[in-house]
Amino acid sequence: MTWPRVKGTIILKAGNPQEEDRALEYAAGILKNGGLVAFPTETVYGLGANALDPEAVQGIYKVKIRPADNPLIVHVTGIEQVKELVRFIPHEAAVLAGHFWPGPLTLVFTKKELVPDITTAGLSSVAVRVPAHPLALKLISRAGIPLAAPSANLSGRPSPTTADHVLEDMAGRIAAVLDGGACSVGVESTVLSLLSSPPALLRPGGVTFEMLEAVLQKKILDLTAGKGEDFKGVPPSPGMKYRHYAPRVPLYLVEGEGSAQKRQLVALSESFTLQGRRVGLILFEESEGIFPAPIVKVLSSRKDPRLAAERLFAVLRSMDSLDVDVIVAEGLDEKEMGRAVMNRLRKAATEVIRVE
Ligand code: AMP
Ligand code: MG
Repeated sequence: MTWPRVKGTIILKAGNPQEEDRALEYAAGILKNGGLVAFPTETVYGLGANALDPEAVQGIYKVKIRPADNPLIVHVTGIEQVKELVRFIPHEAAVLAGHFWPGPLTLVFTKKELVPDITTAGLSSVAVRVPAHPLALKLISRAGIPLAAPSANLSGRPSPTTADHVLEDMAGRIAAVLDGGACSVGVESTVLSLLSSPPALLRPGGVTFEMLEAVLQKKILDLTAGKGEDFKGVPPSPGMKYRHYAPRVPLYLVEGEGSAQKRQLVALSESFTLQGRRVGLILFEESEGIFPAPIVKVLSSRKDPRLAAERLFAVLRSMDSLDVDVIVAEGLDEKEMGRAVMNRLRKAATEVIRVE
């Protein structure tokens, strides 16, 4: 069987069980030999390599053009495999793993020596998760190794939620992409550290802050507000300090409430249009029609931030192909999944405009 290729990168389709088996066998073979394969998870597509092979991991940094101080998340099939990588599993980690794994929650542990420094960017801790996507789990177990897997985009670009997005950034740079359709969560995993007390949220994601507090029955610290540049000294998680998820044109994010927010969205769009710039608007359903821009993308209802998260990166990428000069985006309430959506929009934004 011959698979299609784009610039040499093989697209491994997993349509029927037989095709899936062959695709997994092929992908696992590449990974076992130190190569790179992009694969679907429920959050976004990951760029996988053997987490225990420094040279393979080096390949991830190289093809993503990722800063060397930004550590990777290691993907495993279950808590048994975590035990091989970490010194101990705190009680609260076991509780959270029991509730949310497999799923979009990454936990930070003290690493064993076995985990190479390059995987953790020199940190003595390692971030680990068990993805919920069946293809991801099958791939990790078929390869028989833990997979280091950041999002399969070029550093700084929106994360990929389809195999086509992966190819936009990675065709010709990696051996293969395993095509499992669109990702259901759409934003990256929640990152939580239990190495400090109280536990610290390092990135909001598919398992919400509210869900974590409810299960732990205690307050956790949200260290993720702001864009990251405001950290004095060392950020609690290296990835926090980088601009991320950015489309190719400037993005202005308008935060605030109700009519003041809508007035600002209209004023900004109008002034860009008067300057002769082609405006792309990213809005919620409730604001559709507020300004007659030629390009309007609706994320979801304000009441459905999960759907907004699922669509966010595809919408950011689509703005690039729609040839807009500037993007104006509407902000959302920072609760439940809205926290992750706002975190990604702020990091994608050139400027955040807050109205009261
Ligand atoms: P990505 O792989 O692009 O989804 O990003 C992984 C995120 O996890 C980054 O924001 C990292 O800073 C964070 N991370 C990975 N390992 C650690 C760690 N050992 N301690 C704290 N944060 C980590
Ligand atoms: Mg990423």
